[in-house]
Amino acid sequence: MIGSQNSCLKKSLHTLLDKVSEQEKLIKANHNSVKLERLWEKGCIVDDNFNEEEYVVNSLSASSRSYNLTIITTYDCNMTCDYCFQSHLNKISMAAAHIDTILARIVNKIVNKKKSDVKIAFTGEEPLINFDFIRMFLEEFKNRIVSKYGITYSVVLITNGTLLNEKNNGIFKHS
Ligand code: SF4
Repeated sequence: MIGSQNSCLKKSLHTLLDKVSEQEKLIKANHNSVKLERLWEKGCIVDDNFNEEEYVVNSLSASSRSYNLTIITTYDCNMTCDYCFQSHLNKISMAAAHIDTILARIVNKIVNKKKSDVKIAFTGEEPLINFDFIRMFLEEFKNRIVSKYGITYSVVLITNGTLLNEKNNGIFKHS
């Protein structure tokens, strides 16, 4: 008698647990669909056929008064981080001879694309290995472009920080 009562109890318990689990699944599914809807509304999720690259390029170039420029000053680095995906095999660096070409490109954007602000990011593997290039470039940029065209500008340095010192830090403070 007690045995059959236990088995009935177990059966009811299983049925109850199954119902709870079904309810949980429904709540989760509903929750996920609300989340998806919100992401869709905010444009975080788009149709498979939507050309995201074209959209970003067009919106950046059409609406912004800024010209964004990223300069890889070197393919060399002073660190050997385990997780690094860079090869460090090609250690070439940007030479002073390239400054004129880059400045000409900036002038072209200011004049032809009516840009009034220039955002420059120096990166590399470790950009400060080629600090001389950065120093010379900023000097020429300020002398030949900033005052002449009356533009605003900002400089970003993407660095591992190990080569920062009073001397090279100063140049960014006054940029
Ligand atoms: S500092 Fe950056 S570039 Fe250099 S090894 Fe580490 S992850 Fe790579």
